[in-house]
Amino acid sequence: MNAKTQKLIELDKQYLWHPFTQMADWLASKPVVIESGEGFYLTDTEGRRYIDGVSSLWCNVHGHRVKKIDDAIAAQLDKIAHSTLLGLGQTASIELAEKLVQISPEGLEKVFYSDSGATAVEIAIKIAYQYWQNIGQTKKIKFISLKEAYHGDTVGSVSVGGMDLFHGIFKSLLFETFYVPSPHPYRFDGTEKECTEYSLAKMEALLKEHAGQIAGIVVEPLVQGAAGILVHPKGFLKGVEALSRKYDTLLIVDEVATGFGRTGRMFACEHEAVRPDLMCVAKGISAGYLPLAATLATQTIFDAFLVAGDIHKTFYHGHTYTGNALGCAAALASLELFEENDILGTLPEKIRLIADYFERFEKLPYVGDCRQCGMVGGIELVADKETKEPFLFEQKIGAKVCAAMRPKGAMMRPLGNVVVLMPAVGMDMETLQKLMDIIENTLKHDLPKLTCHTGLDSASK
Ligand SMILES: *Cc1c(COP(=O)(O)O)cnc(C)c1O
Repeated sequence: MNAKTQKLIELDKQYLWHPFTQMADWLASKPVVIESGEGFYLTDTEGRRYIDGVSSLWCNVHGHRVKKIDDAIAAQLDKIAHSTLLGLGQTASIELAEKLVQISPEGLEKVFYSDSGATAVEIAIKIAYQYWQNIGQTKKIKFISLKEAYHGDTVGSVSVGGMDLFHGIFKSLLFETFYVPSPHPYRFDGTEKECTEYSLAKMEALLKEHAGQIAGIVVEPLVQGAAGILVHPKGFLKGVEALSRKYDTLLIVDEVATGFGRTGRMFACEHEAVRPDLMCVAKGISAGYLPLAATLATQTIFDAFLVAGDIHKTFYHGHTYTGNALGCAAALASLELFEENDILGTLPEKIRLIADYFERFEKLPYVGDCRQCGMVGGIELVADKETKEPFLFEQKIGAKVCAAMRPKGAMMRPLGNVVVLMPAVGMDMETLQKLMDIIENTLKHDLPKLTCHTGLDSASK
């Protein structure tokens, strides 16, 4: 390790508190420090290069240091980096809002900016809540969401989240939400159809039980990312949409992870021709360059806040950096690249490539379900292939497998026992293939060895 790396790690350990990290483990570890990136590769302070297999936590789209986006940000810098949207307009944020409405599912007409996925969801919840207050349906104050859902880490978005590990400790801080079991064949013994029907029936029962009290249903469309890449059966989202209409409540889709090409279409909703009332986008919106997010709303919702001079129906929410000009400039350049490079047109070939590898992975020892939703993948590692007995949490098998990929040149990050595959949608076929080869090699040669170095007997659980 060179002296510079050593010094940086020392300073990191002295001054930083990392997200979602048990810092005691971090302090005992030898972290990699990323210094630069180029295309789909990251470079650390030791000069080692890694394929960015999780697109810098699910947000990078066209790669790193993409000339067009770099130039767009520089050009925006020559004009202005940031000016408030409170009481003023701003060119880049206006131009991007028009574009976002054009590419979004039909019916979404208005754009409310913020700066992270969590705030985009927070805003959707508050808009939905106030919408019903504004139109006099004041009893609609509760939300329905899915078990194991993840919508971000602010108190409101945690309240509609369903992951016990993240949310349990904050229980008394959160508002009450009604949960529906997620429709996962991996979680139930049943066909996809049975899981879908079961989950939708539970949802309908809640809507009946709390008739006239549900402000909105919040869902991650098609795939629950942070839950471990749990892919919903076809038709589930459409079923949720139908229930939201039948019981006169709002459909809020959290496209923070799925938006901007991840699932093979621009937005996941398009796969089932679903028209949400509110849609949250973040992560990929600025191509992974800058913190930017947006909550899109229908005209009907927007109109419920319109009363000239009325202070009570105004939506009182905003962030200092709302609609940041640099972020909007990056987003505009990214959307141009989607067209210029026909990104969506290149996806079927890449999606097939991943599917081919996944088919082979599923035959390997200690590999369970390999789940895929477009360019999103989850490789579940299991202690027993027959019974699908999971590895013990303490074995940290996902983390160990990802660590084994680093010397081979891939940067991956697991979710528990699931190795997450989230390449940038703009990744070229050659790099994608290289990445898949590294994963295959690690699953074949390293995984079996890693399972027996744990000192724990998984069978004796
Ligand atoms: C990542 C994520 C969020 C939170 O986004 P942040 O920008 O990290 O706040 C919300 N919803 C989903 C579905 C996500 O994957």
